[in-house]
Formats: sequence, C-alpha cells, structure tokens
Amino acid sequence: MRENKVVYGLIGYGGMGRWHTEILSNVPEAIIGGIYDIKEEKREEAKEKGFSVYETEEAMLADPDIDVVLIATPNDCHKPIAIRAMHAGKNVISEKPVTLSSADLLEMENAAKETGKLLTVHQNRRWDDDFLIIKKLVEEQKLGHVFRIESRVHGSRGIPGDWRKEKVHGGGMVLDWGVHLLDQILYMYGDRKIETVYASLTNVTNQEVDDGFTAILTFEGGTEVLVEVGTNNYISLPRWYVLGEDGTAVIRDWQLNGEIIRKTGRTEETVVPVKTAAGLTKTMAPRREDTIVKEDLPKVSGDIADFHRNVVAVIRDGAEPEIKLFQVMRVMKLMEAIFRSAETNQVIKFQDQV
Ligand code: NAD
Repeated sequence: MRENKVVYGLIGYGGMGRWHTEILSNVPEAIIGGIYDIKEEKREEAKEKGFSVYETEEAMLADPDIDVVLIATPNDCHKPIAIRAMHAGKNVISEKPVTLSSADLLEMENAAKETGKLLTVHQNRRWDDDFLIIKKLVEEQKLGHVFRIESRVHGSRGIPGDWRKEKVHGGGMVLDWGVHLLDQILYMYGDRKIETVYASLTNVTNQEVDDGFTAILTFEGGTEVLVEVGTNNYISLPRWYVLGEDGTAVIRDWQLNGEIIRKTGRTEETVVPVKTAAGLTKTMAPRREDTIVKEDLPKVSGDIADFHRNVVAVIRDGAEPEIKLFQVMRVMKLMEAIFRSAETNQVIKFQDQV
C-alpha cells in the first residue's frame, strides 16, 4: 500500500492490459506500481507510456510494494501465474476466463485458501448497460413471468488475433465471449438452478476451436435461456430478446436501440386475419393498436471502474468481492457442460449448485 492506495502489478501488456491502465486511471484509490510482459517490445511500449517496468515476473512478485497482481495474459497462463503470485503473498485478479477447466480452478481456489489471498476474476460485463437494463426488467417483473431470454453477440470477422485460435492457449468463443454471456445470466439468476443444458458449436472459420456456439439452458421455474456467439454472421440478430407473459423487450445493438411492447389488458373480440403468401392467419395477425403499449427501455448507468473500486475496498477495508469464486466455478462447470453436450449431441442434466 502506498499512501493508502492499493498498488497494482500488471502482467501482460497487450490489448486488455492497456485497457486496464485506462480504467485504473479513473480509480484514484489504485496505482499501477509496475508492468511485466514476456515480450521485450511490450515492456518498451509500457516504459514509453511512463510506467515502471519489471524485467521478470519474479522481480514483480518479489516487490513488497505490490498488493495485487492483475493477470492479462492469454488464458492458459492465468493459472500458473496466479498460483505463483498468491504463494508470493500477492492478491490476484485474473482476466476471464479464469482458467481452462473446473479442475484447474479448484487448484487456484486451494492456493487462495492456503495463502489467505484474494483471488477474483475480471467479469467486467456485469457492468454493461445492456445487461443492466435486462436485469432490471427481469427483477422488476416489467414483462410478467419471463419464459424466454435470448442473449447473442454476432460478428463476421472470425476469431481475432493469434492465440484465441489455438486450443493449447484456451482459445475459442465459449471461453472468450461465452464466459461473459453465461456469467451475466448466472449472476442474474443466482438463486435459480439450471436443470438442463443443450449446445452446439460452430467451426466455420476455425477447425481447432469453436468459432461460435448456441447453448440452451433451462432454469427451474420455467425459463429457457438461449446464449449464442457467432463470428461468421454478416447480419446480426438483436443483442437481447426477452419474452414475458405480459410483453416483449428487445435491445438491438451496443447503442442500446430497442423498446418494450406490453399488453394493455384490452382484448380484441374479433381479430382481422392477415393475408400471408398462401393463406390467411389470425394467429400471426398484428395486434390492434389499443391492446399494446410501446415503452422506452429503462435507464441504467454501469461504470466498469466499479470492478476495481470493489477490489480496492476488499484489499483495504475487507469488503466482499463482487466476483466470487463460487460464481466463477458455476460458470466454468456450465462451460464444461456446453462442451460435453456439443460433443455428445445430448441434453445434459446439470448438477447445479446455487
Ligand atoms: P493480447 O494477445 O493482446 O495480450 C496478451 C499479452 O500477454 C501479450 O502482450 C503477451 O506478450 C503477454 N504474455 C503472454 N504470455 C505471458 C507471460 N507468461 N507473462 C507475461 N506476459 C505474457 O491478448 P488480450 O486480448 O489482451 O487478452 C489477454 C487476456 O485478457 C485474455 O485472458 C483475454 O481473455 C482477456 N480479455 C478480457 C476482456 C474483457 O472484456 N474482460 C477483453 C479482452 C481480453
């Protein structure tokens, strides 16, 4: 601790490492004590940006000034670095996914227990505005009983970069974007058990790891959730589509374009059928204007810097971590069930622990 500020050591100065330095500049209670990257050119880049740089990981871990090590390396390096850091007396934040399997996560949890150090994970998308809007709608029961949620992210550029395309580094979209989308759903439904999981993976542009997936989760109480990541989708489906007994909500894009349509309670005694290509249908006929009402999505304001503010409060004042290991373990086991389902083409009965 330096002048009551929590001192961060950042390992990995790639895309996400650089982003963390930006976020941390909005958290005055935290300072970056130094950066280590395995590549010399990255260490040089960090120096040019005015940061202190360590020449080795050991040098950072041996520095008594560092309170918390933030790991932003490829996915397969999180576990060994985290375990070494905790045994060196450091608290640890790992980037997502925390590691590649629940067995690996158990080893990390054991190291946290043995050393008494904090181990938490940067599940930053719990602070995304689109997610916070859906969470609010569900919690406030704006749509009545929600029977289906569809959460999707679609792009058309395949898997970006290098290591994300390789299994050995923990590549693929389940571990990359899936971990965010699944964490959001499980966080929102923290008290409801998942009963079954059914999933399929895509290998359109990459054969080694999944370049997309669709997973269907059924929750006790009768809600079905579809989670989908696509990287070869030249037309994107909406980010969120939520169906409740009393209405429907849509968020189309990252700009939060969307709306809610709810029923007013007025009924239509006689429905005028709509003409379709080869016939008439009353079932699919548009509703009469006065039976529905269109509303704006609720306003929310997430601040991703709150993740680091919470870490500071945990280290300095003994607060509860926002991202708890049992939550991270639940998501990890769910990702394993997704892989198992896709491999066997079976519905998996999920042994959920909430
Ligand atoms: P990247 O390839 O841009 O950067 C990784 C950096 O780690 C590179 O500079 C590399 O030289 C360095 N590195 C590799 N092995 C190392 C080691 N053993 N010790 C020290 N440095 C090492 O990757 P990225 O996109 O920055 O992703 C890094 C991590 O951040 C991944 O786990 C990824 O899943 C995660 N990430 C999270 C989010 C989010 O929104 N939370 C977004 C993007 C990436």
